[in-house]
Amino acid sequence: MRILISNDDGIFSPGLRALAEVAAQFGEVVLFAPDYEQSAVGHAITIMRPLQVHKVNLIAGFEAYRVNGTPADCVAMGLYHLGGADLVLSGINIGLNLGNDVWHSGTVAAAKQAVLLGVRAIAFSQALNGGEPTYEKQKPYIAEVLSMLTQAQAPRLVNVNLPNEPRGIRWTHQSVRAYNGKVVEGQDPMGRKHFWLTAVPLTEPEAGSDRWALDHELVSLTPLRLNLTDEDWLERVRERQPALIDE
Ligand code: MN
Repeated sequence: MRILISNDDGIFSPGLRALAEVAAQFGEVVLFAPDYEQSAVGHAITIMRPLQVHKVNLIAGFEAYRVNGTPADCVAMGLYHLGGADLVLSGINIGLNLGNDVWHSGTVAAAKQAVLLGVRAIAFSQALNGGEPTYEKQKPYIAEVLSMLTQAQAPRLVNVNLPNEPRGIRWTHQSVRAYNGKVVEGQDPMGRKHFWLTAVPLTEPEAGSDRWALDHELVSLTPLRLNLTDEDWLERVRERQPALIDE
């Protein structure tokens, strides 16, 4: 099995290395990741300038390339240069991607880009631990998740979040109850006003959601889809207005 791995924290991220080490048990691994950190760039792609791909000596035994583009660009470049892959992995992101984070996440976007290009994909993100990230407790769970999700019947796109002290694995839904986006005002050293987009802690998550799983130190597996159509609304409006314009 040929496995392409990217991330949004950049080619030197320790999370990329940890994921490569686990994935190597499952197949041949090649790394394509951004030159520098691209967290929260979402599914941006680069179309106003050319992209460059440079081989790097990163980890012994792994072929690795850095790209001057976004996480989604890296997956497109990787699949182009490899002539395809059987599986794309993204991560391990330094920090969780739960609930509405999925809209902004470069980590999840790299996985989405793979699915857009016809390859199944898994995004991995891990809780911050207040210090340097460590992966030893998570690695057995990552291996378990990879063996589950590389089965033929597995979902095509899965968002995986790993707690600091994992004690089990659960299928979850994306929490959409509340949004933690907040603007915080500050002042620069010259006295000019500026603004930070930041996050505030949210209230209790709904049971069975990705946030709930992480609150219970469970590895969260959320199957995602690319079709954003609101099916409930579509059904309702079609009932009321079967045709909007008739000849
Ligand atoms: Mn990141």
